[in-house]
Amino acid sequence: MNDNLREKFIAIVGAKNARVSQDDIAPYLHEWRDRWEGKSDLVLLPANTQEVSQILALATETKTPVVPQGGHTGLVGGGMPDMSGDAIILATGRMNKVRNIDTAGNTITVEAGCILQSVQEAADEAGKLFPLSLGAQGSCQIGGNLSSNAGGTGALAYGVARDLVLGLEVVLPTGEILNDLNALKKDNTGYNLRHLFIGAEGTLGIITAAVLKLFPKPKGQVTAFLALETPAAALELFQTARDFAGQSLTAFELMPRLGVEFTSKHVDGVRDPLTEPYPWYVLIEVSSGESEAHAQSLLENLLENQMEAGIVIDGAVAASVSQSKEFWHLREAMSESQKPEGGSIKHDISVPVHAIPSFMQDAEKAVLAIEPNARICAFGHLGDGNLHYNISQPVGADKQEFLAMDAVITPAVHALVLNYNGSISAEHGIGQMKRDELAEVKDPVALDLMRRIKANFDPAGIMNPNKVI
Ligand code: FAD
Repeated sequence: MNDNLREKFIAIVGAKNARVSQDDIAPYLHEWRDRWEGKSDLVLLPANTQEVSQILALATETKTPVVPQGGHTGLVGGGMPDMSGDAIILATGRMNKVRNIDTAGNTITVEAGCILQSVQEAADEAGKLFPLSLGAQGSCQIGGNLSSNAGGTGALAYGVARDLVLGLEVVLPTGEILNDLNALKKDNTGYNLRHLFIGAEGTLGIITAAVLKLFPKPKGQVTAFLALETPAAALELFQTARDFAGQSLTAFELMPRLGVEFTSKHVDGVRDPLTEPYPWYVLIEVSSGESEAHAQSLLENLLENQMEAGIVIDGAVAASVSQSKEFWHLREAMSESQKPEGGSIKHDISVPVHAIPSFMQDAEKAVLAIEPNARICAFGHLGDGNLHYNISQPVGADKQEFLAMDAVITPAVHALVLNYNGSISAEHGIGQMKRDELAEVKDPVALDLMRRIKANFDPAGIMNPNKVI
């Protein structure tokens, strides 16, 4: 980019809101997995929608690529520019105002740069619940959550990010501002355009604000950490829990012994809640709109039934809010606890819920046929059919040699996923990681429509190029 153009971009946000030295840019080029590399000579931090609009209009006019970045916790390289150094990073962190909370209408209007946890806290202070919840919630931003259509642990009861949006404000690559910030539950006035931007990973425009749904806070909530012999037992427990608790079943997370060992060993403040080791665990949460006693009785009835049936073999029910937080900390730290164990080949997949146990058996067979000493640490949102099918390197193996096996392990795992009519990206998106694979597995008509939509919205091809499609 020539100096003249660079100065024009900087003038939009003001010099103190631009990062130009490589030292200042470095944090925007560092991502959580240490997997993606990128280059950029300019990071812009706009303060508002108007500034985003001016940046994109100038970018389209000059064909300058723009990579949107929120909390940069995405796991598929979507927020990372390529190595050409041509792209500007547009970071949304300064656009972090809660514009409005409507407790009667159960909505909150927030700017894209609001950190997810701060939105949860604002809702809580207003006596409401914003149920999107994930391990990265202290860093990820609403714009990133919506752009990647995040799932997380609340999806079982409340849906994924897409289901929590009533309105959206988006700046198109041309600089035009799409104002769809109404908070209406019912609005059948033509195509529902907002859903195109949710899950688009920044390839169609920049989300600048959203109207999100709020929910009543549960009056009672109980969490339990339960031990089981097999994933099939976990599926049985899930189905019975659904029958017993219905919509009151607000979380159901599966974890293997290896994951509990990794977190207890590597993450401060985590310990195994049970005294004996068991092959599998489920973190279950039951919420009640009536009372604490109601939530407890739902869980007690379920546990009595499932212990008698030999499905649940041991367990601990959280006796306090802080113990419940400890159980959740164990689950949420499971991703990061794999890092100190060396190389990890990760798959964010979904299959129909009923197929989880047989998928896991088949996948284990396929992986161990390639590397008999691989350590499978598959965990996740069983109730959504979504597993993080992660595989840690054998103890003592060379990290790079193991990571090179990705070339055979991932096709084997994904082939099984497709056999089960599943998805190779359940909640993390496509980014650059799965772009080429998407082209192979997506329905050709759907892929063609996606390309046509992209070309129409972004004729200059400036928005997050080479991501998704
Ligand atoms: P970023 O990483 O900054 O960006 C993600 C994508 O969106 C990029 O393509 C970027 O270009 C684009 N983008 C960002 N902001 C905008 C915007 N305003 N407009 C347009 N495009 C934009 N994900 C889950 O779904 N469920 C989980 O349970 C989960 N757990 C996680 C646990 C850990 C420990 C970590 C590190 C990640 C986890 N993730 C999970 C992945 C990640 O946190 C989510 O994808 C999150 O929604 C990304 O938000 P972000 O603000 O960090 O987005």
